[in-house]
Amino acid sequence: MFIELEPVFNNVGLKKEFQYSFFMEDSGVDVPVRVSGKIENRAGVVSLTADVAFQDTVACDRCLKPVVRSFQKQFTHILTASLNDEDNDEFILAEDMHFDLDALLREDVLLALPMKVLCKADCKGLCPMCGADRNETVCGCKKPVDPRLAVLQELLSDS
Ligand SMILES: [Zn+2]
Ligand SMILES: [Zn+2]
Repeated sequence: MFIELEPVFNNVGLKKEFQYSFFMEDSGVDVPVRVSGKIENRAGVVSLTADVAFQDTVACDRCLKPVVRSFQKQFTHILTASLNDEDNDEFILAEDMHFDLDALLREDVLLALPMKVLCKADCKGLCPMCGADRNETVCGCKKPVDPRLAVLQELLSDS
């Protein structure tokens, strides 16, 4: 969604509220992402506050079981119509008074998403040898010994 910022930048005290949803393409999130927020000019400082939420089902990183992932987070940014310091990433530049909110929030969500999704914190995962779910069965497979460690073990047992 594009938001027209000119009225907000030009009127101290003005607040624009919005509520919509969008799709984050190529992100691994396949459900619509709900957004509700506001853009507000307080004493000449224009800030964006957005509550972002979605719920989807993804595979556990270790055992591949489906896991319901609930995401809910608030993001805030200060918007500016011009930057003096190009490297300042505290501010979001809205050069021509409007900007793509979806792209900004997409980045926010991707940075905030946990790298790994687990069905439970201590998920034991699948056995790399036979593929058994180690949360449910004890397959008895032995971990192959690293050949470098095997040499070390031999040396140790010789002494
Ligand atoms: Zn799992
Ligand atoms: Zn196994």
